[in-house]
Amino acid sequence: MFPETRLRRLRQRRLQPLLRETELRATDLVAPLFIDETICGEYPIGSMPGQSRIPPNGIASVARRLYDAGIRAVILFGIPGKKDFHASSAFDPEGVIQNAVRSIREAVPGMVIMTDVCACEYTDHGHCGIIIEERDGPDLDNDSSLALMAKIAVSHAEAGADIVAPSCMLDGQVIAIRAALDESGFEKTPILSYSTKFASALYGPFREAADSGYSYGDRTTYQMDPANAREAFRESELDAEEGADILMVKPAGLYLDILKEIRSLGLPVAGYQVSGEYAMIKAAAEKGWINEKQVVLESLTCIKRAGADLIITYFAEDACRWLHEKR
Ligand SMILES: [Zn+2]
Repeated sequence: MFPETRLRRLRQRRLQPLLRETELRATDLVAPLFIDETICGEYPIGSMPGQSRIPPNGIASVARRLYDAGIRAVILFGIPGKKDFHASSAFDPEGVIQNAVRSIREAVPGMVIMTDVCACEYTDHGHCGIIIEERDGPDLDNDSSLALMAKIAVSHAEAGADIVAPSCMLDGQVIAIRAALDESGFEKTPILSYSTKFASALYGPFREAADSGYSYGDRTTYQMDPANAREAFRESELDAEEGADILMVKPAGLYLDILKEIRSLGLPVAGYQVSGEYAMIKAAAEKGWINEKQVVLESLTCIKRAGADLIITYFAEDACRWLHEKR
């Protein structure tokens, strides 16, 4: 008790670095990249200042720049030249992602390449898999979509992806993909499952970025209700049992309680700081209302403190630079 106990004793400026519990590192960060087959030059994303869609022939130099900045991992999203009902360009061996994986592998051999495995950027209706007519209207069909995800994941692994990351929140997505990878000789390719993904209003800017807005309905029949914590844990627990190697909570910033709980499952956990989190910080900073660098580093440190081993963030490159400046 005071006056014997004085927590400020350890808060002297000189002692602070020695006692810091959480240290954000450049190697914690994963940079998302949007590769767009329909463009020839970089296309700035209006709602995500500083982020652009990259044409296929520009991806190698962007990956090189990120690597030189200290980034060691990227996650790829593709915008194909052609969309259809069955997302057939998603598993094309010469598809936008498959080609991008090969380009990055060749240009920057040391970069860890993760690929987002989903169909929403490849379907003409914008939903994450195969749509069927249900009593309440069209809905995502779970089991036929699983076969599609397995095909996409195998095609990414064949192109050379280091980690595949299914994001569609289908029941059984991990076990289906694991079986398909193993059958095709990719038993060493890890699965980073978007195991607990909420139907968040913070994905708005991403839909512009990835051209993945849906033409009807919403995603609440497969993504989770933000109000549900027990179900959130169960989603990740099941993915762990199905063989996921890394779990994920998406979005990260508003869901730190979930991150902390899911960490108790013992697997590495990723936090995805999503497009809306990025856009909010950017917009407030542009208005001069907050200090961008300080808020970004605080937000990322707190995601790590809550339990994330890796953080997917659109601030990856800037954060790397700022972390480097701090030294
Ligand atoms: Zn999707």
